Amino acid sequence: MPIAYITHPSSLLHDMGPYHPECPDRLHAIGDRLISAGLDAYLRHYTAPAATHEQLARVHDEGFIATIVAESPASGLHFIDPDTAMNPHSLAAARHAAGAAVLATDLVVRGECRGAFCAVRPPGHHAGRNRAMGFCLFNNVAVGAAHAIHAHGIERVAVIDFDVHHGNGTEDIFTDDPRVLMVSTFQHPLYPYSGTESVAANMVNIPLAAGSGSAAFRDAVRDHWLPALERHRPDILYVSAGFDAHREDPLAGLELTEADYAWVTRELVAVAHRHAHGRIVSTLEGGYALSALGRSAAEHIREMLVAA
Ligand SMILES: [Zn+2]
Repeated sequence: MPIAYITHPSSLLHDMGPYHPECPDRLHAIGDRLISAGLDAYLRHYTAPAATHEQLARVHDEGFIATIVAESPASGLHFIDPDTAMNPHSLAAARHAAGAAVLATDLVVRGECRGAFCAVRPPGHHAGRNRAMGFCLFNNVAVGAAHAIHAHGIERVAVIDFDVHHGNGTEDIFTDDPRVLMVSTFQHPLYPYSGTESVAANMVNIPLAAGSGSAAFRDAVRDHWLPALERHRPDILYVSAGFDAHREDPLAGLELTEADYAWVTRELVAVAHRHAHGRIVSTLEGGYALSALGRSAAEHIREMLVAA
């Protein structure tokens, strides 16, 4: 069965300024690497629809959505926080980034594709029910997961977050929701300095100290993620795929390599095949060293293709 590669032109037009690490070239780095690695031709390409208001409102409050719409600038940059800005294309980009996760969900639940990678920006996992922050406007992975639950009647969802930063927004949205298991690793202490206190029963948060590498990451996955995933028996897996735990990344201090991203993807695909008919939806989060981002995302996608 095919693997979907979902993006939208607006993902390249959302631009937070010439020195911002969360830049349009990130998507070129991934797309170019997929071509040079010979993988692109095996993917089925889709254009992301815009998420509807109803789809966004499953995970965000109406007032928050209205604020983001109202703050969309007609020209120039409007800053939501010191790290997060909107240009005139950002609102459309955010709607299509969330819509990519919706389309991915539809494709894998209907059995048209085995898995999907959403190559979209802005990323989403710092966006909470009521708050945009940390380069994120709407929570793409949460919109996808909520679509699986509400539109398709899926009863058990897993969200796996291997971005180097804690996915505080996703945790905010799904905390204490027994339908959703979230497992994550993140560097701690590091932005947004959350994830270690008052953690709900459906959250498996594994903080890693700066300098942690492959062994510590793989131990966390084997000892904590995989047993929790086996107990939850998800009907679909969502991956918050941030590649900023790579050793070349300038924003953090973990020491992963593309081999670690290939390994964890194999493990997750195996969980998906055991419990979820192979269904796996991956959405891009961080990753700011462009070459490392391209290589890591390509290995992640290669493992999805191999197993499809
Ligand atoms: Zn990150």
